[in-house]
Amino acid sequence: MWFSAASAGAFGRARTAEPTDLTQLNRNTVETKYIFVTGGVVSSLGKGIISSSLARLLLSRGYRVTIQKFDPYINIDPGTLNPYEHGECYVTVDGHEADLDLGHYERFTDIRTTRANNITTGRIYQNVIDKERRGDYLGKTVQIIPHITDEIKRSVKALGKTGNYDFIITEIGGTVGDIESTPFLEAVRQLKWELGRDALCIHLTYVPYLHAAKELKTKPTQHSVKMLQQAGIQPDVLVLRTEKELHAGMLRKVAQFCNVTPEAVTQSLDAPTIYRVPLLMHEQRLDRIVLDKMGLPSEDEPDLTEWNRFLHHLENAEKEVRIGLVGKYVELQDAYKSINEALFQAATYCDRKLRLEYIHSEKVTEENVAERLRGLDGVIIAPGFGQRGIEGKFVALRYCREQDIPTFGICLGMQCMVIEFARNVLGLTDANSTEMDTKTPHNVIDLMEEQKSISSMGGTMRLGAYRCSLRPGSRAAEAYGSTEISERHRHRFEFNNDYREAFEKAGMQCTGTNPDASLVEVVEIPGKRWYIGTQYHPEYQSTVLSPNPIFLSFVKAAISYGDERGTNGNDETTTTA
Ligand code: GLN
Repeated sequence: MWFSAASAGAFGRARTAEPTDLTQLNRNTVETKYIFVTGGVVSSLGKGIISSSLARLLLSRGYRVTIQKFDPYINIDPGTLNPYEHGECYVTVDGHEADLDLGHYERFTDIRTTRANNITTGRIYQNVIDKERRGDYLGKTVQIIPHITDEIKRSVKALGKTGNYDFIITEIGGTVGDIESTPFLEAVRQLKWELGRDALCIHLTYVPYLHAAKELKTKPTQHSVKMLQQAGIQPDVLVLRTEKELHAGMLRKVAQFCNVTPEAVTQSLDAPTIYRVPLLMHEQRLDRIVLDKMGLPSEDEPDLTEWNRFLHHLENAEKEVRIGLVGKYVELQDAYKSINEALFQAATYCDRKLRLEYIHSEKVTEENVAERLRGLDGVIIAPGFGQRGIEGKFVALRYCREQDIPTFGICLGMQCMVIEFARNVLGLTDANSTEMDTKTPHNVIDLMEEQKSISSMGGTMRLGAYRCSLRPGSRAAEAYGSTEISERHRHRFEFNNDYREAFEKAGMQCTGTNPDASLVEVVEIPGKRWYIGTQYHPEYQSTVLSPNPIFLSFVKAAISYGDERGTNGNDETTTTA
């Protein structure tokens, strides 16, 4: 392994490798700059990855950068959306249920986001309506322009006003032409006008390849830029997403049609891993173009030493580590995004390729569990809500515990570990969580006291970062190299402390607790190879330059288990991020 334990888990510490004197220089000279990232042609082009990559490049040049996402939907936040609608719900350190792009922002930049980094139409309207009710508008008719657009502009600039950043990158969700994003584009138009050279728009489009004609087509790009121009916004930089290399002539043609300077038309080719995109965009000179257009020096190269080291290990790992993820949303690519990425990072730090296998919890039975989990080096039991698929998780857990397979339960996964142990070791056959069975005689997982008076759904769970004290000598404490940690949460139910003694006597130890509320945060069975459940979600705090220690510890245990059985290093399909 090529990292030291001490360097792992340094999330939140500045690990951006920028020369301090340059940072100082920029701090003294830079007015806050605003970069808007819009998208056209189709959705899912990866605006979040392009924004994150640009942020990484600017950070590596010593600038202070943050990224925010504006989502055009009416929900106040994505917390009430199910994973089929919106993929994973990410959680910020201050307890905001956020768009999963904020996860990319943190993984690429190591900079913590907060609720100020994710704004929806719903929140904009809520703020405006609250102001109207307070009488702030002094009898005026409240309208989309100027009141909604002013509120959007205020939110765009809020992070800039803190004085903590040189660059605010604002990703506008949706696609140009959507009715929903119109007020956001109008706000961008006004801001570009007001801020002049301190604002810039990067427009991301798609260049399809028509197989029948064997041709790449730029017409959709031209149309989407026209649509942006109709909204009064002239993009300064174009990023053309493409599956095939675009030749210089095509880029020049796009420049001509779209009023963009030729050097500012760049391409973003499909990459084998999202973590290569910063380097590809640097090759396209994206960071230079932005700095030149904003009147900043661009001669120095960004310091990407650590980033390159990560990629080197990622691309040179030969052996595999085979992890199974048991959950009910396994057919959705984005439902467990942060877990996938945290595993991927941990595997890379252990010089292994991650082979991640999804196991549908609804399909796991006593009869097929051995078959379904065959050959795995480690198993993750996923977070989640509700009854569906829960029995399959218990079956998988019993098998893992009895066969002593390295097993990691996250949030609901940890609660399932507790229930399975209660049923099959303590003999409390009807044990359950009151989330699944309100009348269970053994409510080993129960609704948190503070949740009992809550009836509304949005933003009311126990959310965000809380402290956790780990028992000295425990596997968890060993993993973190510390007995005091802080991790993020998203749950309503908790371990019922009435049962704590019985669990500990029978071998399941409560090795992590919240020091303020004695709430159990970590359980583990010490005699096993690696059997740990966390009430918190460590996946929200794992980044490329600072992988999460508990994921590292789990992946290391999985590798040892694979090595013991001699099953590692096979060459079947591997999952890439
Ligand atoms: N449904 C469980 C709870 O609310 C677990 C939540 C989760 O896995 N994020 O406590």
